[in-house]
Amino acid sequence: MMAQIVKRGNFKGIPYTVVFRPVKYARLEFLTGELRIILPYGMGVKEILKRKERWIRKKYQMIQNSLVEAENLPIENRSRRELKELVVQYIEEAERSFGVKVRKVQIRRMRTKWGSCSSRGTVTINSLARFLPDEIVRYLVFHEVNHLKFWRHDRFFWKSLERFFENPEKMEDVLLSYWFRIGSKSF
Ligand SMILES: [Zn+2]
Repeated sequence: MMAQIVKRGNFKGIPYTVVFRPVKYARLEFLTGELRIILPYGMGVKEILKRKERWIRKKYQMIQNSLVEAENLPIENRSRRELKELVVQYIEEAERSFGVKVRKVQIRRMRTKWGSCSSRGTVTINSLARFLPDEIVRYLVFHEVNHLKFWRHDRFFWKSLERFFENPEKMEDVLLSYWFRIGSKSF
């Protein structure tokens, strides 16, 4: 694997990290609240920052709001085993709802996300989800299982989730807020 070249900077008060990778196009993401710019080798960062300024500001503001909200969120305190039981229950519900089959469920401490789903059908849920309220765990599980039908976060993906959650985007915001409350701290 090729080593990454990382650069740090600040765009009008918004801190960011640049990572150079063998990619074709530039990409921006707010990974756990931090702006990260993935650039093809040799490309400058200024142009993309300028072109995406509106999007960056909007996202950044959303994250700032999440940070404030985070402190007032209700917290559960399940054991890891209780979390697993709850997750398995929601996995079964999600399998029925989407008509898919999950091959393996695992609970694991993840550093940068609440959950993941592999193309082979393994759903991984962050062990820190034991602090999340039931309904948020349910959303998290449905989100991951939905990936077995829709790989990318495109409009079909969200439409599918809307059959079970009135406002999936809002749920994503809530998950982000919880990340600031729980996920970004070390336990
Ligand atoms: Zn996803």
